[in-house]
Amino acid sequence: MPQTAADLQRLLSRLDGKGYPAYKDIRGSYEFNYFTLFIDHVQGDPFAAPSRLRVRLPMTAAGFPPDTYSQPSRRIALRDFLARAFSGQCRTLADRSRGSGKSGLLAMDRPGQEILERSAIVITADAVEARFVAGLPAQGRRILGRQAAQMLCEDVPRLVEASLKYASLNPQQLTAHLDVAEDADALRGQLPGLGLVAFVADGSSLPRRSGVDDRPLQSSRVTPFRSPASLRVEVTLPHAGRVSGMGLSAGVTLIVGGGYHGKSTLLSALERGVYNHIPGDGRELVVTEPTAVKIRAEAGRRVAGVDLRPFINNLPDGSEAAAFHTDNASGSTSQAANIIEALEVGAKVLLLDEDTCATNLMIRDARMQALVEKSGEPITPFVDRVRQLTYPPLGGIEGRQAVSVILVLGGSGDYFDVADTVIRMDAYTPHEVTAAAKAIAAQHPTGRAIEAVGPWPALARRIPLAESLDPSKGRREVSIKGRALRAVLFGTEEIDVTAVEQLIDEGQVRAIGQALNLARERFMDGHRDMAEVTAAVMAAIAQHGLDALDARLTGDYTAFRPYEFAAALNRLRTLRVRPGE
Ligand code: ADP
Ligand code: MG
Repeated sequence: MPQTAADLQRLLSRLDGKGYPAYKDIRGSYEFNYFTLFIDHVQGDPFAAPSRLRVRLPMTAAGFPPDTYSQPSRRIALRDFLARAFSGQCRTLADRSRGSGKSGLLAMDRPGQEILERSAIVITADAVEARFVAGLPAQGRRILGRQAAQMLCEDVPRLVEASLKYASLNPQQLTAHLDVAEDADALRGQLPGLGLVAFVADGSSLPRRSGVDDRPLQSSRVTPFRSPASLRVEVTLPHAGRVSGMGLSAGVTLIVGGGYHGKSTLLSALERGVYNHIPGDGRELVVTEPTAVKIRAEAGRRVAGVDLRPFINNLPDGSEAAAFHTDNASGSTSQAANIIEALEVGAKVLLLDEDTCATNLMIRDARMQALVEKSGEPITPFVDRVRQLTYPPLGGIEGRQAVSVILVLGGSGDYFDVADTVIRMDAYTPHEVTAAAKAIAAQHPTGRAIEAVGPWPALARRIPLAESLDPSKGRREVSIKGRALRAVLFGTEEIDVTAVEQLIDEGQVRAIGQALNLARERFMDGHRDMAEVTAAVMAAIAQHGLDALDARLTGDYTAFRPYEFAAALNRLRTLRVRPGE
């Protein structure tokens, strides 16, 4: 006989007043009238990490029509929608007056502005499952059985009823959520056919409330996005129908304009355009090629054996640029490493903003070339490499992927010569000024010498070594955690990911921590290089879902991209690599 809700109720009243460890007895599963409650992990005391629970209800009880989950974009959006509903209900029902420590807590991570795949809600054709945490109530270390029974046998059913059943949800909101995700994915899928790497729909609202609040700026002074006629493209989407906006073509795009005219805001929206956004965000139809990676300087980071020769040669301390190692990179070397590492795992679009770039990696003007001769400058500036990147034949390496670049630069005209498209932001509205920029370039030559030393070199492969990753800490064989959006705690190492700007959800940070361990255990075999290890991790997740990351079933994880996984691995200070053949 399976245990029922009534059995759980009886068990909890028996436990009332006992010592906290007796709670372990409630582990197991319980049949409620139309769903099952699983108590997978019971916390050791009221102050420890909360207990882990799941509820699962058959699709017949949840009642979602197949068109809400049969297509991948919609299924992810449905999961995301239910996570929002469930976490919202948790906040309403959680009653922290139920005792000491985490007593009374009911929680699921609250999603932000992006629609992402999360392990907190899993949907199959047969069932809907929600994974959440609860603080089992206690007074001091004495079990509060009656409060626990209220929580698990009354509040949890309310939670399920209000947030996991189709009939309880607002159908217009749900449809809008799924449609917006499906449209964004469709639009992203159309980019290559249109020769574009990004699209910003007319009417989009790009500015955010603040640097720490990603919700849309709500002000009558927001200027809605309006595409310049020369870059206007029309697309047709499954739900929104015909939509016009600015198409950014493959190649080198320069975004110029006066300070405070909206350049960085546009670039930030493009960075986030690799993800889908919720209705009302303002960036629903701002989409970027999925492999686009934001590049910035990151002085102080570690670099493990990266081939920096496209940008760095003849270092004064004699260090090897073809397998560059440092525990404390400079602004320019860190940015060069960030570029090479992104290319190594397949980035086909690079996004750069002058606000966070190392000037000496970006430009070296005629006057500086006259004062500091080339032999005294290890850096080959980006301006002299960018067209080799974008037009591989110029780089001399057969079959190398073309890489587009979108660059915000208001402070130097030296890029006019190498840009395919120049956009000027003027009071938050873009204008195409390519012809004017080219005319100025012809009229006022920079006078600088091109410094690229030969073609883009064939870059050395790096083979990451499993033994350089150690997830153990003290007596624990594996200790992996996320610290907000700031760090992956991997064993005793703290991987600083604050500069990895397209890492946007704490669940991604936790998932990447686990993925590093999966890579160490299964894929770092001394033969696979960085790209192959990363691809193997992504393939395992594509095949088995986020549950591939953990032996336990938890709601802790959010989907991430290969670029952010590689970024974390590259920032692990113990990482060692061997050069590939
Ligand atoms: P820049 O990089 O050109 O110096 P920013 O992108 O940092 O400029 O924008 C400057 C300010 O203008 C920011 O506070 C930003 O939120 C605001 N802003 C950006 N775009 C808009 C817009 N379309 N409407 C209103 N305010 C905007
Ligand atoms: Mg700026």
